[in-house]
Amino acid sequence: MSILLSGRWSAAERDQWLTLLGAALPEERFVLAPEPEVEIAVVANPAPGALQGLPRLGFIQSLWAGVEKLLADETLPTGIPLARMVDPAMNEAMPQTALWAVLGLHRGFFQVQAQQRRREWRQPAQPRAAEWQVLVLGLGELGGRVAQALAAQGYAVSGYSRSPADLAGVRCLHGGLEVLDAALAEADTVINLLPLTETTRGLFDAARFARFKPGAGFVNLARGAHVQEADLLAALAQGRPGHAVLDVFQLEPLPPEHAFWGHEQITVLPHTAAQTDARSAAALVAANVRAWRAGSPPAHGVKRERGY
Ligand code: NAP
Repeated sequence: MSILLSGRWSAAERDQWLTLLGAALPEERFVLAPEPEVEIAVVANPAPGALQGLPRLGFIQSLWAGVEKLLADETLPTGIPLARMVDPAMNEAMPQTALWAVLGLHRGFFQVQAQQRRREWRQPAQPRAAEWQVLVLGLGELGGRVAQALAAQGYAVSGYSRSPADLAGVRCLHGGLEVLDAALAEADTVINLLPLTETTRGLFDAARFARFKPGAGFVNLARGAHVQEADLLAALAQGRPGHAVLDVFQLEPLPPEHAFWGHEQITVLPHTAAQTDARSAAALVAANVRAWRAGSPPAHGVKRERGY
C-alpha cells in the first residue's frame, strides 16, 4: 500500500509537497518511484507514461486545477476516479485578480499608467459600476466565484457556461457560439475562465474578437491556448479588444522577445492569477485519499469524456 508522488517540478517543490502531504496523511507511505504496491497517485503534470504499469492503482489526484495536460497522456489509466485540485486559497485569489483587472479597465487605470510614462495628465471617464457590463466565460469553481464577487461590487455581470447555471446577481447564459457571440457584443470586459478542452482550444480567434464591442477589455485568466495570439495582436490594432490583461500564454514563461511584453494595450501577468497553496491543497488531498479508502467518491472528480 503506497501513494506515488509524481510531477514535473524542482526537487525543492517536490520535497515541500512530500513534507506537507506526509504531515496531512501520517498513516500513508509516500514513494517517489513506481512500485507494484502503489494504489494512489498524487500528480502534478507527470511525464507522459508515468502512471503506466501500476496494477493496483485505484485513484489519481491532480495537484493542479487544470487537467488538460494529464488528459492528453494517452497512457493515463482509465476506469478509475481522477480528481482535480479545488483549493480554497485559489478560490480566494482568482476573484481578487479579476476585480483588479476589471477595475483597471473600467476606471482606465491601465491607461493612466501608460500616461504616467509619457508625463501626460488626462482624467479617464468614470462610468458607474452598474453601467459596466462584465461577461465571465465559465461559471465553475473559479468563474462562478469571480462573477459573484464582481456582482457584489455593483457590476452588471453576465456569465456563460455549457449547462444552465443559477447564480444570484448574475445573468446566466448557456448555449452555442451564437449565444456567446451575442453576449460578447454587449460586454465592456470579457473574462475567460473556461477549462482548456477540444471545444475551447483557440476559441479566441479573429472571428471571435470581431464580435467584441469596440474598446472592450479582454482578461484571460484560464489557459494560453484559448487564444490565437497572432489574431489577438491584429485585433488589438483594430481596437477590438482595446486592452488585454493576460495571465497565461501559449508558451510560458513568456519569451523575452515576445510582442506582448512591450505592447501598450497589453498587461502581462506571470501566470499568477491564482496559485495553489500547498498547505490547504494538502488538506484537500488528505480528505480525498481518506474518502477513497473509505469507499466514497473523491470530491472534484474529472469527467474525462467532457475533458474537465
Ligand atoms: P470548473 O469548475 O471545471 O468550471 C468550468 C466552467 O466552464 C463550467 O461552468 C463549465 O460549464 C464551463 N464550460 C466548460 N466547457 C465549456 C464550453 N465549451 N462552453 C461553455 N462553457 C463551458 O473549472 P474551474 O475550477 O473554474 O477552472 C477553470 C480554469 O481556470 C481551469 O481549467 C484552469 O485552466 C484555469 N485556472 C487558471 C489559473 C491561473 O492562475 N491562471 C488557476 C487555476 C485555474 P458547466 O458548468 O456546464 O460544466
